Amino acid sequence: MKIVCIGGGPGGLYFAISMKRRDPAHDITVIDHHPLGSTYGWGVVYWDDLLDILYRNDPDSAHAVRTRSVLWQEQAIHLRDSDTAYFGGYGFSMGRAALLEVLSRRASDLGVDVQHGREVLDLSDFGDVDLIVAADGANSRVRQRDSHRFGTSVTLGENRYIWLGTDKVFTRFTFAFEHTSAGWIWFHAYPSVAETISTCIVECQPRTWCGLGFDSQDNRGNLRVLEEIFARPLDGHSLISSTRGEFARWNRFPEVTNTSWYHDNVVLLGDAAHTTHFTIGSGTRLAIVDAVVLAQVLYEHAEIADALDDYDAQRRAALRPIQACARTSMAWFEHADRYLDRSAVQFAYAMAARHGMQMPWQYQQHLLTQVPPVRKVRRAIDSAHRWWRAARRGERAMAPPSPLRPPAPIRSDPPIR
Ligand SMILES: Cc1cc2nc3c(=O)[nH]c(=O)nc-3n(C[C@H](O)[C@H](O)[C@H](O)COP(=O)(O)OP(=O)(O)OC[C@H]3O[C@@H](n4cnc5c(N)ncnc54)[C@H](O)[C@@H]3O)c2cc1C
Repeated sequence: MKIVCIGGGPGGLYFAISMKRRDPAHDITVIDHHPLGSTYGWGVVYWDDLLDILYRNDPDSAHAVRTRSVLWQEQAIHLRDSDTAYFGGYGFSMGRAALLEVLSRRASDLGVDVQHGREVLDLSDFGDVDLIVAADGANSRVRQRDSHRFGTSVTLGENRYIWLGTDKVFTRFTFAFEHTSAGWIWFHAYPSVAETISTCIVECQPRTWCGLGFDSQDNRGNLRVLEEIFARPLDGHSLISSTRGEFARWNRFPEVTNTSWYHDNVVLLGDAAHTTHFTIGSGTRLAIVDAVVLAQVLYEHAEIADALDDYDAQRRAALRPIQACARTSMAWFEHADRYLDRSAVQFAYAMAARHGMQMPWQYQQHLLTQVPPVRKVRRAIDSAHRWWRAARRGERAMAPPSPLRPPAPIRSDPPIR
């Protein structure tokens, strides 16, 4: 099959890898308009369930992803830096640039023609291909061109956010909420590159954003103000704005939905098809699951049209509850100030409960998590659990990759930050 994939983000690259793993004879080109190693954003978090999928689908790239990822344990929620609450648990994180480098190298090794630095402006060059995969991100040009056929809807979130890095090394997933003269502002931070760089996503309501002058200041001015506001939780470390030579910009999160994920031989994948607010930390994982499922249905069906129909039915149904959950999470953060008169422990519990009713025992568990020896025991249990999951998926003893191993059905419920 001759395939062109527009967009060499995690979704596009992982689709190419998954196709080649199922049939090395496919002729696949991935085109991305940025040079290799240059991407927007900083790190992304993920959990064991993504590693399970990666190891099942392609152990080689899974091993490289795991090796370059950082483990973080627990979540800390600081209010005004004077009051802190904790959640238990652990996750992993990895810089986007490193992730794309790993996937790009693996795709090339499998025989995919990965072309960087080429922007696709229209589809007229691809008249002779069997399948066009639009994995060109949330602002997909391919999708916009035919938005009426995909039934696209894009809704912007109210809050403003900016995706930054910092040289402060966080070992926990950390939230810091600070009160300013213009209102509350907070960051979500986690490690990205081991012991070097952390990701720091700053978010606030529109009136705070205007009140602090972020609508009129230049980028350097923005960073200076943010470093002053977060001086205590950042321990005086710097914020880093520039990736690929461009300054990060303030954004409003676009929630993208489509009533159909394909038309003719053009299919949407990853953020081009759907976005989920960053407060549930799932977009990369979902793009990768799309990629695996699309490769699998193309492997199972003789006709491309049947495969696309199956993919559309499976993935749109799977995304519906996840996007609803992401919407609720985004809305909760848009009204976070309603809960910020509480203590950190009460506020953190409200944050944990934003996805729905909690059982009474969960509140007791939350209170227990605030006790340091209890957290220590939880960390030990988590380590044992992590070891068991790693052994079960084959992470401990790297087996030689099998040429064909269609993945088992994939769970669609993402863990929530
Ligand atoms: C602030 C923030 C934090 C996030 N944190 C997390 C997280 O912790 N965990 C997580 O799982 N997800 C996270 N995400 C979501 C995640 O970044 C995306 O869901 C994921 O990158 C989607 O992958 P993709 O391959 O579909 O698209 P992208 O990664 O956006 O890749 C699209 C690619 O297409 C290329 N492209 C675009 N147009 C063209 C064109 N015309 N021609 C050629 N190439 C083109 C672009 O250069 C880009 O490389 C976060 C998102 C944001 C905004």
